[in-house]
Amino acid sequence: MAAQLTGTAVSNAIAIGSATIIPRGHIHVSQRQLASNQIENEKSRYQLAVETAKRQLIEISSQIPQDTPADIYSFIDAHLLMLGDPTLYEAPIDIIERSQCNAEWALQKQHDILLQVFEEIDDPYLQTRRDDVAHVVNRIQRVLMDEATLSDLVSSQRDNMQIIVIDDLSPAEIISVHQHGLAGFITEFGGPLSHSAILARSLSIPALVGVRGARQLLFPGENIVLDGEKNTAIASPDKQTQIWYRHKRREYRKRQNALATLRDEPAVTLDHQSIKLHANIELPDDIRAAKKSGCTGIGLLRTEYLYMNREQLPTEEEQFSAYRSIIRRMKGAPVTIRTLDLGADKQVDSGRNDMPLPSNPALGLRAIRLCLQDLELFYTQLRAILRASAYGPVRIMIPMISTVHEIRQVRTHIQTVQYALRRERIRFDENIPLGTMIEVPAAAITANQFAKYCDFMSIGTNDLIQYTLAIDRVDDSVNYLYNPMHPAILKLIKMTIDACDKAEIPISMCGEMAGDIRFTRLLLGMGLKEFSMQPSALLEVKSIINKTNVEKLSRFTKRVLRSKDSGNIYDLIHTINAH
Ligand code: PEP
Ligand code: MG
Repeated sequence: MAAQLTGTAVSNAIAIGSATIIPRGHIHVSQRQLASNQIENEKSRYQLAVETAKRQLIEISSQIPQDTPADIYSFIDAHLLMLGDPTLYEAPIDIIERSQCNAEWALQKQHDILLQVFEEIDDPYLQTRRDDVAHVVNRIQRVLMDEATLSDLVSSQRDNMQIIVIDDLSPAEIISVHQHGLAGFITEFGGPLSHSAILARSLSIPALVGVRGARQLLFPGENIVLDGEKNTAIASPDKQTQIWYRHKRREYRKRQNALATLRDEPAVTLDHQSIKLHANIELPDDIRAAKKSGCTGIGLLRTEYLYMNREQLPTEEEQFSAYRSIIRRMKGAPVTIRTLDLGADKQVDSGRNDMPLPSNPALGLRAIRLCLQDLELFYTQLRAILRASAYGPVRIMIPMISTVHEIRQVRTHIQTVQYALRRERIRFDENIPLGTMIEVPAAAITANQFAKYCDFMSIGTNDLIQYTLAIDRVDDSVNYLYNPMHPAILKLIKMTIDACDKAEIPISMCGEMAGDIRFTRLLLGMGLKEFSMQPSALLEVKSIINKTNVEKLSRFTKRVLRSKDSGNIYDLIHTINAH
């Protein structure tokens, strides 16, 4: 009988194959006390294991196919670097010497120490780097224990449509089993942000992660359907289900191939309106994904990520080189740098521990409010952005603006920094555009006033919805109220677009709503011509734009804007999308 297991899919892809259960378990390490004359031998055994692990990785790296995206190599490089890092190469040797113990135990102890460091990090992205350390430690442990490699285990199976069911997979292991004909994989641990999940997405391998107990619930050789859209794995599906999923898989593949061909196509509606599709990024490394999506620029660089998980604030020089590297890599396409948006759910450790905790962080001293009170912090960032603007088109964007006075103050501060740079004979773009994010209802309602003081605007729907509907965006218990289709939200968006059109300044949207294909046509109908979103959403949005006649939508859009309840709006949007 068919059974369903739930986890988190890394993509929407579908896989059909048979289960290869990898029984390897948690590595159990016990402590052995060694005699003094055994220590040197044990140290060499550890060094040899690290060298063997390195050789394995270099061999895997040499098997990567030519057309593999460059970021895949970086996973292996990162693991190779870790193998050469003193925390993994030298520290266990010290432990062997100090505690007179076996190499496995010493490595385990050092792993515990490293895990403790990661425990103190409060950022989900960096937390996933913990997985990388675990993968490297496991590789060394398995060499020390003389275990068969995963590649050996998988290649001994004859079936080349295998769905590997395993505790966890490292990026290197994914590459090594990829060549043995892998249909997909299911892991019991790991999350969608881990490097392994990112790699599976890049290599288009369907995968479901975090399926607890999968190896107990599935049988070797059992037929499995992996449905990425529904985040499920169906075990022993009946004939009908199999036929249905084969059909869905064919459709999915066709869709992906068709989307990839859109990469270098312009985004133009059927009635010839040209639309800009920009990418949202957090760190310089994200540029790769942004460029791969065929974006026309960066519509939101969330600079606060440069400030997180570190002891010291980033210097002007460090910020300058991060911004410049992004600008250079965008080769003349515009880069919108948002000034620091710290506070609320984005806290930093660096140098700001003296701040009292606000009683309501989302409404407190965050974003531009914080920068206007800490001018040293603000000026350092402004100098870095202005200096970087000499290397390509840059726009400065200010988050959480709620009064016109704030934007005027910002202008004055920018002028002060520009004056200083001129005196120092440092180059910058004299006409750098300044924009505000529209995230606070007050700013949307008075957007016509703001338009006099800025060169562009961008609607941050994530916060605009939070503040308009009074829903904390990180509070799970009220998430169900988070509704972009609320009539109030749509009205505020429309008011902002109209105000910018009237003032003849560009208007963009960079909240999640911009990358949600349910709203693409509605937003086009409301007059939006610039969208900024996570790179993975961009081609889907482009495909909708290129099939839309905006003029024909106007009747529906007007009805949506007149509607008083979200249910009705939902039905109308459905009609718009079905057109
Ligand atoms: C937004 O609020 O919509 C936005 C893009 O900013 P962030 O998600 O970084 O708060
Ligand atoms: Mg925001």
